[in-house]
Amino acid sequence: MKLIDTHCHLTDERLSPVGDVLARAGEAGVVAFICATARIGDSAVAAGIAGRYKQVYCTAGVHPHDAKNAGEGYLERLEELAAHPKNVAIGEIGLDYHYDFSPRDVQRRIFAEQLALASRLEKPVAVHTREAFEETLAVISESGIAGERILFHSFTGGPDETRRVLDIGAYVSYSGIATFKNADVIRAGAALIPDDRIIIETDAPYLSPEPVRKMQINEPLNVVHVAERLAAVRRTTPETLAEQTTANAIRFFALDMEA
Ligand SMILES: [Zn+2]
Repeated sequence: MKLIDTHCHLTDERLSPVGDVLARAGEAGVVAFICATARIGDSAVAAGIAGRYKQVYCTAGVHPHDAKNAGEGYLERLEELAAHPKNVAIGEIGLDYHYDFSPRDVQRRIFAEQLALASRLEKPVAVHTREAFEETLAVISESGIAGERILFHSFTGGPDETRRVLDIGAYVSYSGIATFKNADVIRAGAALIPDDRIIIETDAPYLSPEPVRKMQINEPLNVVHVAERLAAVRRTTPETLAEQTTANAIRFFALDMEA
């Protein structure tokens, strides 16, 4: 089984030494990793890790939590980071009205600016949305970016929200949240995703999946549990789900992996 962890925070010190984390995941069948980022500094560190490990790719972006700290000239810096040979996406970017760590109007502006950059650079986008679903769709729509360039990461929508994101042609990624006991609504949505639109991730070091939810530090190797649970939900085998999600991740992020 070949899996890709499409969203893990390898820059987080809890996932150090990163070489050991990658080796453990490699033994579990994880063949590639996309290092998610939340700030400019973080994105530069991620590019460094991606430069050292051939199986690691990186993103660059300003998370809604940090929108208020983006600062003058952040878009120019982001464009430089996006030009790194291992950069495969702008992200994670979006709106978070649960924590409201940045004012909502600032979140919307920073999200829109980064969507416009991704559109101009023809890069895919990893979107974070929490308690801001309608506004997230509205900002995406106003940006004019193609829906096929959008990935809703760690998606928690139910069937209605799932249909809405599929309507714009977006991809959907599930994390350990989809394995939690109280996540039947999310799983009902996951059952609706076409085979060519579903992707998986860990969001490590956060969100350890069942049955290892008690692991305080989630690791990319646990993406196998996400695959197993989603396969059951979608009435297929983990092997088939792994093939589908890996092929989708390679297509969405245009990964230059040998077959
Ligand atoms: Zn994340």
